[in-house]
Amino acid sequence: MKPVKKNKLTGKLKALMLRSMPNMITCKEFDDFMVDYLDGELSSAQRNKFELHIRMCKECRQYLDAYKRTIETTKAVHQSEDSVIPNDVPEDLVKAILKARNNQ
Ligand SMILES: [Zn+2]
Repeated sequence: MKPVKKNKLTGKLKALMLRSMPNMITCKEFDDFMVDYLDGELSSAQRNKFELHIRMCKECRQYLDAYKRTIETTKAVHQSEDSVIPNDVPEDLVKAILKARNNQ
């Protein structure tokens, strides 16, 4: 028995799903929808398609996760000017920011 190349198989399966499901959006469309989705600007029909794609497509799920984390980190950095420093900011960066602030 030959080992199955998993990625190739998954790719084929996804291509098949995209063809057989009229409501399924492509990864490119997912990308286009993502910002509007996070802003809550999609219609409910568009949101359904988008959420269906998240469930079906692991790559886009990870992509969305990474994107959300980036936004949250960016927000946290902006909000932390006088309060909390996010845990995942490297210590060197924190020191550099504090130093820059003290020099003002
Ligand atoms: Zn996708």
